Amino acid sequence: LVVVEHVNKHFGDLHVLNDINTVVNRGEVVVVIGPSGSGKSTLCRAINRLETIDSGTITIDGERLPEEGKGLAKLRADVGMVFQSFNLFAHKTVLENVTLAPIRVKGVKRKDAEAKAMELLERVGVANQAKKLPAQLSGGQQQRVAIARSLAMTPKLILMDEPTSALDPEMINEVLDVMVGLADQGMTMIVVTHEMGFARKAADRVLFMADGRIVEEATPAEFFDHPKSDRAKDFLSKIL
Ligand code: ATP
Ligand code: MG
Repeated sequence: LVVVEHVNKHFGDLHVLNDINTVVNRGEVVVVIGPSGSGKSTLCRAINRLETIDSGTITIDGERLPEEGKGLAKLRADVGMVFQSFNLFAHKTVLENVTLAPIRVKGVKRKDAEAKAMELLERVGVANQAKKLPAQLSGGQQQRVAIARSLAMTPKLILMDEPTSALDPEMINEVLDVMVGLADQGMTMIVVTHEMGFARKAADRVLFMADGRIVEEATPAEFFDHPKSDRAKDFLSKIL
């Protein structure tokens, strides 16, 4: 579904993505981990074309990422993104947050969009919050709304960048449970997270990044139990 080939990206002198190559097949869950500044967020953002790349190619479903305009709107509809900071529209209700893009971007009728939104809010366990504003919800509830919002576009792929790292500990599991549910239902996901429980339970593969490179690519069991590189061993000794 996603093919990343020889991707390079610089910020000034900093080589943030250094010859990145990877393939994510339909239905796969790939967890990206690595030290701060290793390029994890930049890679996610490049796949959603929130960031340009200097060289190499990224294709989704065989199509190269569009440069601009219409193609970009289609890409954003196909590729959902969930951020650490929820990024909900603060002045819109939960229900409006979930229906806005389907109505505006896809031209779905309001009634149909609302019916589907309620289904999705049910699925992530916050249907009873539909009329509230985001600020009236807990962090875990807001993040589940953000996941429902991305699902409302029926994306081919969902990118999640540290979706639980802004949450209080007791709310992390409710969001991870939703993510595991999505994985079980066959959603293709690329998830930047340091939640090893999620990686072990849900990931098909782990990508370990350091200094802009993919240093290791392995199954969670291989990676966590038998990391090969010193970089990975060192990193794991700090987070486990
Ligand atoms: P973290 O775990 O802290 O989120 P990360 O692996 O997601 O880190 P990135 O956010 O991808 O790392 O950043 C990689 C490097 O690129 C960092 O050194 C960062 O300072 C730098 N960087 C990121 N965005 C920009 C930007 N817009 N302009 C300049 N440098 C940037
Ligand atoms: Mg990051």
